[in-house]
Amino acid sequence: MGNIIMATCPCGLESKEIFQGIGFNYYENHQRMEPAYCDHCGVVVGRDISKSISKCPKCRRKMRFYFEDLEKESGNEENFPDSEYLESKEFWHCPRCKQETLKFEGMGCWD
Ligand SMILES: [Zn+2]
Ligand SMILES: [Zn+2]
Repeated sequence: MGNIIMATCPCGLESKEIFQGIGFNYYENHQRMEPAYCDHCGVVVGRDISKSISKCPKCRRKMRFYFEDLEKESGNEENFPDSEYLESKEFWHCPRCKQETLKFEGMGCWD
């Protein structure tokens, strides 16, 4: 189960739908998708956090997950926050304009 979310920013950035969370086939492939961004290309996409390296679909550079920023701020060493972490802040880092003006909008649920 998970949420369908989209990242938008006043600068014009708009992500595709991101299927956040774990899917019905989690027990087979252990995928867990979470939003990640590439500062180089200015894109936000869903990436599988169970992989050690998540590469940008455009430039192949390593992407950063949003929850990694959160851990840094809170000094929390836990390996992963629950999926509500996106509600802990209203505005997030935008990889396109580099401002803290990006918002995640819930589009619905999936399972
Ligand atoms: Zn990139
Ligand atoms: Zn922006």
